[in-house]
Amino acid sequence: MKITEHLYNAQGKTLFSFEIVPPEKGVGINDLYKNIDPLMEFNPPFIDVTTSREEYVFLEREGGLMERKVTRMRPGTLGICAAIQHKYNVDTVPHVLCGGFTKEETEYLLVDCMYLGIDNVMALRGDTMKGEKYFTATKGGNRYASDLVKQIENTGKGKYLHSDTACGEENKFCIGVAGYPEKHIEAPSMNYDLEMLKKKVDNGADYIVTQMFFDNQKYFQFVKEAREFGIDVPIIPGIKPIATLKHLQLLPQVFKIDLPETLVNEVVKCKNNQEVRKVGIEWAIAQCRELLEHNAPVLHFYSMGKSDNILKIAQEMF
Ligand code: FAD
Repeated sequence: MKITEHLYNAQGKTLFSFEIVPPEKGVGINDLYKNIDPLMEFNPPFIDVTTSREEYVFLEREGGLMERKVTRMRPGTLGICAAIQHKYNVDTVPHVLCGGFTKEETEYLLVDCMYLGIDNVMALRGDTMKGEKYFTATKGGNRYASDLVKQIENTGKGKYLHSDTACGEENKFCIGVAGYPEKHIEAPSMNYDLEMLKKKVDNGADYIVTQMFFDNQKYFQFVKEAREFGIDVPIIPGIKPIATLKHLQLLPQVFKIDLPETLVNEVVKCKNNQEVRKVGIEWAIAQCRELLEHNAPVLHFYSMGKSDNILKIAQEMF
């Protein structure tokens, strides 16, 4: 079922969902299941599965030469989606990227989604490759998420690459895109970023999921400004409970977000990561309470591995 149908059926009730990251190559799927199992009690209508960019590895060759190879450390997004759908009878949302994929490869992936009964996809440009400062479009691939949305929309209408007319069955995807309450790092201004977000919606995006934020006011302001821009699709807040002392540096660095002073002060007082985890849970519960009061359509959690903290938050909220 499409995410938009889940939202419609919820009739204003806030839903619970989460995102998972595929394990590293060579690690089985059972640990993932162990983390998903306890969360199923809260009836997530959908689970997102991320896609990782490919990366360079260097192999030592005779004579001290190094050979550069490209590899994907966490493959299997679509396989995991199929496995989860089969095991839990829940909708899954594979993340589809511009980076690392030609348009043809994207088309084949969408065809696989159709065969698997996957109705929703999240269209993203993708992170820059490790070690690269700027995003470089893959040769023959999409440059921006808005281009990718257009391709997904066309494929759903049965209009394939290299054909001028629609020649396939209609199989319209429900398309999610990313939104940034604190602005995307590369956007020169918030207005510019909102204009680009509008472009994604105009090209066919059905809903938006936000980057994580720790200050709800930023989400409320973002929703207000997006509405003023004429963006009228649901905007789902993304929530990440802070879990380790290291997150104080890591989250701002990787996700280009700010942490509120009060939260930082609480975390630095902690003696160990167990205490940090507790602070993170309490902060996220307070955030979620306010988001519920404001009728957020879904509370969407970034699980990044262990889910015990998300379980505690869900137990308080649902
Ligand atoms: P875009 O919408 O293409 O925007 C990128 C930048 O270009 C922005 O600054 C925007 O303002 C600008 N821009 C957009 N369109 C145009 C245009 N037509 N002309 C000029 N400028 C333009 N990354 C992964 O690698 N894998 C994942 O699974 C993944 N999941 C994510 C899930 C969520 C909910 C979020 C919020 C992010 C996720 N990311 C993921 C990270 C994402 O790929 C990065 O933030 C990336 O840098 C931008 O992706 P985007 O889809 O927002 O790009």
